[in-house]
Formats: sequence, structure tokens, C-alpha cells
Amino acid sequence: MEVDTESAPALEAATTFADLGLDPRILSSLDEMGYKIPTPIQKQAIPLVLSGRDLMAQAQTGTGKTAAFALPLLQKMLAHANTSASPARHPVRALVLAPTRELVIQVHESVVTYNKNLPLRSTVVFGGVDMKPQEAALKAGVEILVATPGRLLDHCGSRGALLSQVQFLVLDEADRMLDMGFMPDLKRILNLLPSQRQTLLFSATFDDSIVGLAKSFLRNPLKVEVARRNSATELVEQVVHKVREDDKLDALVKVVKALDIGQALVFTRTKIAADKLGRRLLKRGIQAATIHGDKAQLERLAALDGFKQGKVHLLVATDIAARGLDIVELPCVVNYELPYAPEDYIHRIGRTGRAGASGLAVSLVSHEEERLLAGIERFIKRDLKVTPLPEAAQVQVVVPPAAVASPAASPGVPTRFGRRRAEPVCALLMPPPAGGPPETDSPTALS
Ligand code: AMP
Repeated sequence: MEVDTESAPALEAATTFADLGLDPRILSSLDEMGYKIPTPIQKQAIPLVLSGRDLMAQAQTGTGKTAAFALPLLQKMLAHANTSASPARHPVRALVLAPTRELVIQVHESVVTYNKNLPLRSTVVFGGVDMKPQEAALKAGVEILVATPGRLLDHCGSRGALLSQVQFLVLDEADRMLDMGFMPDLKRILNLLPSQRQTLLFSATFDDSIVGLAKSFLRNPLKVEVARRNSATELVEQVVHKVREDDKLDALVKVVKALDIGQALVFTRTKIAADKLGRRLLKRGIQAATIHGDKAQLERLAALDGFKQGKVHLLVATDIAARGLDIVELPCVVNYELPYAPEDYIHRIGRTGRAGASGLAVSLVSHEEERLLAGIERFIKRDLKVTPLPEAAQVQVVVPPAAVASPAASPGVPTRFGRRRAEPVCALLMPPPAGGPPETDSPTALS
């Protein structure tokens, strides 16, 4: 299936956010965040969004895609910004849809930061928590609504969310929304939106199903691409250790200690494997926590919070559970089990080496997984380096970043992948749980 897209002209001339024509109030929040120059997707997408075009953007995780859509939309909505207390003066104008709770929370956190000097209002709604606080926020009026599709429809059903004035629609991680079976929900939402609107679609991959989605949702879109499909992120050093299945735990502990890795995200394929690994790591005295879709919302928040604070050293996760995590300078990702889908390998390693930071991706590959490894190598179009496990002689105590209170605690230890900073690695900003018993609503539920 084809969609009639033009490729966007190369727009690499702008080198600063000011060159992109953003309002000084937006520039000042970017300055506070330490954003010096726009990332390639930002350079390309921001002028096009400002010009009013629909966009199909292929951008991997960690490329800065959230700011690529959020900044120009804030800029465009400035014309309507007002400080009136009347909810009617704050209709939903920008709707951002994303597949998981973690991702909508993260996107909303970014919006809040970029928006902090502007009188525009925003909120986030997602399943698994009480609807009432979300209803109250919607009722007060918000210009920017970030939502998972299922929960948004619940609010629309109770007339808590009105979408008749939406001018901008963003489909973030559209490929994942389709993988998770959201197409029927997306179509229902589409029917509630004005047909006159600007639509921006972000996806790590562009296969036929995404093209089909674009056909129904977008009008004459421009296509922008910053990382080609099948290309593993350049900034991440990828190594493979071949180990027997039974020796994987020992291998993981050895790698973490030998390389003095402060914190890492460790992937398993299944929830059962994640639980088992989490328990075994704890038995070995390693501070580990587990996140996957069967965990209650509060448990997941606690695990993420522990990781964010540096108390948790290894966060064991399934693919979908890890999707929405915004992790700043996470030094290392470990594939304890290789994923079945090569695309997931890209998503996993994209958790490290984000926005210019370098990172390490270690894969522990058993004999039974060699076919999966071959599939990944075909997908990324290169062979991965197979190396022996690091020598035990290099073993250092694993020190969590947050536990390193002063530089004196680790004088001069050369660490490539450990961190020697007091801040935690995980910048995920979790909102206070909205109360109520955690529940699972299947589309928004994690893996
Ligand atoms: P995203 O791909 O939107 O998930 O962004 C990945 C990370 O890069 C987030 O932690 C952002 O805060 C950060 N980031 C986005 N744009 C920039 C920029 N221009 N300079 C530095 N960091 C950025």
C-alpha cells in the first residue's frame, strides 16, 4: 500500500532553536533544560509543523521527537493562550495519543517543562487509575491533552473530554499503538475530531499498516526521516557474549561487576522470565526490581522510582513495559534474552545512548538464540561483535550512582559505563498515583 507523501526538503540550515523562530518564553525553558542545539528531527520537523503541514516522521526513540512536535505546537497555540479562569476559554486544541501510560506520562512531563512560561494548560489521562482526578483536570479546561486511546474514549463516553475543537493531533509511537491493537480505538477517536486539523504521526518503523493508518488520518503528509529503518543507533556500542542458558545469571553479574555498571535496564522476553530473574538477582544481593504488565500500577511506580533514585541497580523489564521510559544517560542495556522481533532489539538499545550520550548494549546469547541473533544482524545490516565475557580481575563493587554521595567515594575509578554522579540515571518523572485500586484495561495494559 502506498501513501502519497513528499519527502521534506533537507532543512539543516537552522542551528539554534532561536533560528527556528520559537517564542523567547519557549527558548528560555529550553535553555533551563540545557538543550543547546536542536536534534536532527527537531531541525526538520519544527519548521514543517509551523508551516501547517501534516507529517509522517520516522524517528527512533531518543532522537528528541517529543520536542519535535511539542515545541511547534506550543508556538502555534500561543495565539490562543489566555489566563481566563473560564474552562470554555481552554478547549482541547492539541491531542497527543501514545500507547502506554509510561509514555503519556513522559510526554506530558516534557510538555509541562516546555510550556512552563506560557499560559497554556495541559493534562494527561491514562488507564489503570481512578478517572475522577482526570475528570476534574479536564473539566477545568486544557489546551493540550496527552492520552492513551482507551482511557480517552472512556472520558469521551462520559462527556468528560470534548474533542470538537482539536486543531492538532499527534500519534506518537504509532507503530506500537497498532501492535497493541489500538486501531479500532483510534478510528473511534478520529470520528470525534474535526476533519480540519493538522496531524503528525511519529513512528519508529513505516510498514504497510502505518501507511494504512496515515491514509485514514493524514492529509497530503510530508515525510521526514532521521534514522533509517533497520539502522541500529550509531552511538551505542553493541557486544554479544555467547553463554549457556544456565550460565546467563552468572554472566550478567560478571558483566555488571567487571564493567562497573552503575545501573542497567535488563530485558527479558516474558513476564515470567522477568519475575524469575528479578528474584534471582535479589538472592545474589543485587538491588533489582521488575516492571511488566502484570504488576500493579503502584508496584511499577515504586520500581521506577527506585531506579530513578538510584536505589535499584538493575531494572528488569519486558519490551512493552520499558517502552515509555525516558532515561537520561542510561549507560547500559542488557539483553538477557534476545527479543523475537528484531525491531524490539532496536527499541531496547535505543534506551541507552539517547540524545547524544554514548551507551553500551550487551546481549547474552545462548545457543538456542543464535537464530534470533542472525535475524537481528540481518535487520540491522551488520554483524555484532562477539567477545568473551569480561575478566573477573576487573571486578569492582557495583556502586549505585545515588549512593555515590561524594566524589571521594570513588576516587579516580575509571568507569566507562558506570556513573560517578550523584543524580540518578532515570529521569522519569512520575506523577503521584491518582488513587483508587489499580486495574488493568487491556489496550493500555503493558505487556
Ligand atoms: P525523546 O526522543 O523525545 O524521547 O527525547 C529523548 C531525550 O532527549 C529526552 O530526555 C529529552 O529531554 C532529550 N532531548 C530532546 N531534545 C534535546 C535537545 N535538543 N538537546 C538535548 N536533549 C534533548
